[in-house]
Amino acid sequence: MRITVFGCGYVGLVTGACLAELGNNVIVVDVDKKRVADLKKLKMPFYEFGMKEIIEKNLKAKRISFTLDAKNAIKEAEVIFIAVNTPEDKEGRANLTYVFNVAKSIGEFMNSYKVVVDKSTVPVGTAEKVQEIILSNQKQKNAFDVVSNPEFLREGTAVQDFMNPDRIIIGADSSKARDIMVSLYKGIERTGRPIIVTDVKTAEIIKYASNAMLSTRISFMNQMALFCDKVGADIKMVAKGIGLDNRIGPRFLQAGLGYGGSCFVKDVRALIQTMKEHGCEADLFEAVDRINVRQIHYFRDRIVEQLGSLKGKTIAFWGLAFKPKTSDMRNAPSIKLAEELQALGAKIRGYDPEAMEEAKKVMRFEPCKDAYDAAKGAHAIVLVTEWSEFRELDFDRIRKLAKEHILFDGRNIYHPAEIRAKGFKYVGLGRQ
Ligand code: NAD
Repeated sequence: MRITVFGCGYVGLVTGACLAELGNNVIVVDVDKKRVADLKKLKMPFYEFGMKEIIEKNLKAKRISFTLDAKNAIKEAEVIFIAVNTPEDKEGRANLTYVFNVAKSIGEFMNSYKVVVDKSTVPVGTAEKVQEIILSNQKQKNAFDVVSNPEFLREGTAVQDFMNPDRIIIGADSSKARDIMVSLYKGIERTGRPIIVTDVKTAEIIKYASNAMLSTRISFMNQMALFCDKVGADIKMVAKGIGLDNRIGPRFLQAGLGYGGSCFVKDVRALIQTMKEHGCEADLFEAVDRINVRQIHYFRDRIVEQLGSLKGKTIAFWGLAFKPKTSDMRNAPSIKLAEELQALGAKIRGYDPEAMEEAKKVMRFEPCKDAYDAAKGAHAIVLVTEWSEFRELDFDRIRKLAKEHILFDGRNIYHPAEIRAKGFKYVGLGRQ
């Protein structure tokens, strides 16, 4: 099939690369000149495992190309994916300007029937608006359908997730568009991955419901962790004890510094706003968001409790990205925590295996070359992002490098007794 994807971000690039890998001819469009020029030279805009290899292979096979030319890309396509950013606006709504700009171009330049696919995460009712914008901008009348095909990939395992999804959701109100979409994904369906076909609005809600559920589990465990701290119980064992219940399951039960990243924060807030606009209470999700914000303040207070005044104190951060295996710093808990500690007079030294360049753009810290370098002269160390390389460190060496010996485990990855045996004071979340 001839596919055009709008957006060379995490979702657009992975979608384009994987659809090319499945044998389609794909054009990926962006408005960012540097990004497009770099991609043509196989320079990736961010780190994502396996993505460069798959793009290289499909560039050689001439199944994928990158362009700034929206007009030609629209004319060429049978199916057009909109995978542009939908950031949070000042009120917490999803800013749909970028989606609507693409819809306008599609209307202006379409020359035959097209399936227009909302891949970006957009509030319920957006497909209808996209349809109206396309219609009102059409220079020549052509039939088209707008479908919703939300994306569930996780940064760090995005290629794998796209190719082996738990499910593919297709929201289509026309049988023609539904059949085209199902046939586009048949290569993935053949490997046993289910396709769920719904109406458009249901598909739009599935994406928000999914992210709200995952965020709720995280805030649930964080609230429990605070309770464990108060009474001297162990949140890790609580997670194990409830996770073995088949009705609950073991995943997304980690207490820690809270969720960050490009999706959960903005999507929970956008869901709250959309629900309110429709006259629905969103109190559960308001609490989820509030608990998430509070988690950083709670952790800051625990640091102050242990160190006293932070004036002139140096704190080492291990990990800066919002989660391991990505260089993405959007809404990373490290940013807020650093600001909170700096406001109290602390100096931050930081190291991340992949996100150093991105981190330098969005936060103030002294960059270090590895975890040991970060620990030099530190009055405390904070494990912020649970990269694997932080799991097996030489704590004897770290003890010699650090000025004082206290480890704040923001992701509960260490065994408290082992850290204490190495001569460090250990402070986790809900870990006695
Ligand atoms: P991103 O910010 O990484 O990339 C968006 C890209 O779109 C940018 O390169 C930008 O220049 C480009 N763009 C903006 N306007 C454009 C236009 N008119 N024409 C062409 N390109 C344009 O965003 P992302 O993380 O890939 O997310 C895209 C959407 O997918 C969002 O709605 C997001 O919520 C959703 N999503 C993201 C993830 C994730 O893990 N990142 C997962 C699932 C869903």
